[in-house]
Amino acid sequence: MSITSGAAPTTLPPFFTFHNGQLMVEGLALNALAQQHGTPLFVYSKAAILAALGAYQRGLAGRAHQICYAMKANSTLAILQTLVRAGCGLDIVSGGELERALAAGVEPCKIIFSGVGKTRAEMRRALDVGIGCFNVESRAELDVLNEVARSMSLRAPVSVRVNPNVDAKTHPYISTGLKGNKFGIAHEDVVDTYRHAASCAGLRVVGIDCHIGSQITQAEPYLDAMDRILDLVQAIETAGVPIAHIDFGGGLGIDYNGDTPPEADALWLRLLHKLDTRGYGDRKIFIEPGRSLVGNAGVCVTEVLYLKPGEQKNFLIVDAAMNDLPRPAMYQAFHQIVPLAPRSEPTAVWDVVGPVCESGDWLGRDRALAVQAGDLLAVMSAGAYCMSMASNYNTRGRAAELLVDGETATLIRARESATDQLRFESLLP
Ligand SMILES: *Cc1c(COP(=O)(O)O)cnc(C)c1O
Repeated sequence: MSITSGAAPTTLPPFFTFHNGQLMVEGLALNALAQQHGTPLFVYSKAAILAALGAYQRGLAGRAHQICYAMKANSTLAILQTLVRAGCGLDIVSGGELERALAAGVEPCKIIFSGVGKTRAEMRRALDVGIGCFNVESRAELDVLNEVARSMSLRAPVSVRVNPNVDAKTHPYISTGLKGNKFGIAHEDVVDTYRHAASCAGLRVVGIDCHIGSQITQAEPYLDAMDRILDLVQAIETAGVPIAHIDFGGGLGIDYNGDTPPEADALWLRLLHKLDTRGYGDRKIFIEPGRSLVGNAGVCVTEVLYLKPGEQKNFLIVDAAMNDLPRPAMYQAFHQIVPLAPRSEPTAVWDVVGPVCESGDWLGRDRALAVQAGDLLAVMSAGAYCMSMASNYNTRGRAAELLVDGETATLIRARESATDQLRFESLLP
């Protein structure tokens, strides 16, 4: 077993601190919450969510704007409610998310509907409740939406998602704003598409949008994309189609492992400067942040079940798994893993793995930790794209979720039982 000396220094996200040797979220010890509610357990800080939102609100203060939280990042009702009560609209990508959004109490006019594969039924329901905008991703979708809206004697508010083709060579982490992926309409087809949309009796052009990727840690891709979008706005309006709002999408990254994305307010200071300089400062601004609002506001607490030292690798088997935290298995993503009550003993190097029967079921590799069976660990930065991607693989129930506000913890999702999982199935007669 390889031994290293001393625990690695840890930078914790805002609202997570060590106090008397215990990892706290706001005013509560995670250890106590885990004793009470069991593990695996997701715990979110309300203050962290509102602080992340606050940075965008400061950045856009004094401008006509709408922040639409991209709810696929974490769509638990109480998380949506927290953001909606603070003024957010919601960016949805399915009919299911539309129902969640409505259940969370958002005004329908603050909902925007993104995604490449909206069905006729989803369009009908969204028109029926009166959502604010459809972000349309293809010419074919535009035609179907026109047909559906006409059949209801309505005009669907539309924005066309354009693919700004931001250069991947300078910005290698951007994955959705480039030619050769399924998202958006190619730059060269945009003006024609708007001409067509403006001629459709079932459509009402309201905006333009883009979303260039996720976990973006630099300002330059946004500045480049803004330039390209504004070039397009100019061309579209020259063709006689006015554009009321410009939606710059989401994608701002968070600090998972020493990443240094710009702060949202600092980023928007630069973007607004460009917008003003180019003469578009009067337009209503939409944004669709997901990860940057919730990612660093949540952790997943897990218990160490077994230590399994080996010749080549030491495995730490914990009770959370890829069905709870799919990002490492899906994207080889890094999450910090922190003991809730660090021991002073020397550390060993471990691969932290779950109980699921897949070699891909790992949460962290080569982590220096001093732990015993029964210890509790926090998988950090687990607020985005974890619970919303969780599955029942291996017939594992989804974890419980808590929202902490100061010294109060509220159970916002009960742990899923085996009975819950069997409910929709039938035995043969
Ligand atoms: C996923 C998504 C977002 C949010 O992305 P983040 O990286 O979580 O900020 C915004 N807009 C669209 C269209 C998306 O698909």
